[in-house]
Amino acid sequence: MHDFAYRYGFTEKAFNFQQSNLGKGGKEGDRVLMSVQDASGVNNANFATPPDGQSGQCRMFIWTLTNPRRDGTMENDIVIHEMTHGITNRMTGGGTGRCLQTTESGGMGEGWSDAMADWMAQSSGTTKDFIVGQYVANRAKGIRSFPYSTSATTNPLRYSSLQKLTEVHDIGEVWANMLHQVYAALVAARGFSSNKLTDAGAKEGNVVFMRVMMDALAIQPCNPTFIQARDAIIQADQNRFNGVNKCIIAKAFASRGLGLKATAKFVDDATLPAGC
Ligand SMILES: [Zn+2]
Repeated sequence: MHDFAYRYGFTEKAFNFQQSNLGKGGKEGDRVLMSVQDASGVNNANFATPPDGQSGQCRMFIWTLTNPRRDGTMENDIVIHEMTHGITNRMTGGGTGRCLQTTESGGMGEGWSDAMADWMAQSSGTTKDFIVGQYVANRAKGIRSFPYSTSATTNPLRYSSLQKLTEVHDIGEVWANMLHQVYAALVAARGFSSNKLTDAGAKEGNVVFMRVMMDALAIQPCNPTFIQARDAIIQADQNRFNGVNKCIIAKAFASRGLGLKATAKFVDDATLPAGC
């Protein structure tokens, strides 16, 4: 996770977790501390993100839904989800670890973490539905409400779903599913790179997706709304790719109600930017 995320911009200057920053900026002495089979809980995991210069701490729990019990550390989705909390909490708002504190931004924090696990699991140009936590829960539907899917039948979550959601993981499902649409659209348009973990300069859609998702973290405001986070992704595409993916990205968000004229009232909107 460190090495892959570094290539996509989570560097010393971007407030990453390293024991030594090798003279490359940022604050050091903050390697991630990992506790496996941690006794402080069950059926979950967590990641505490203090400011740059203090270690992040990940605690992975045993899951008790099966007999014998299962170890969350054995499921890549869960590990990636937790580590991504460290990335999003550090990159948003300049390394303070305090800029995903509102319910809406904290919900997106859960969403980015699921979206990262989704991105890791995709292995070809055919974007598959993604289900979190199938192993730990030992059930086909995993631990979320719906698979992440481009099918509105399989996953009906839309921007307007937020009117009724108050729990951060539930809110995160709406955001992760929007990101799944963006991902699938970029892969459909620009293809898939099998070297995604090592070649962040590749031109394929899955790499472009991770580029704009990571870049956006650093330019969005502290405690962003869905609208601000969407705008940051579109701006990130402008900054890095001269906006060549603007319409692809905007259409994907609009397909789930986060169109150009969506407001903070969580009413679906399908408006596209001019020229799209
Ligand atoms: Zn989480």
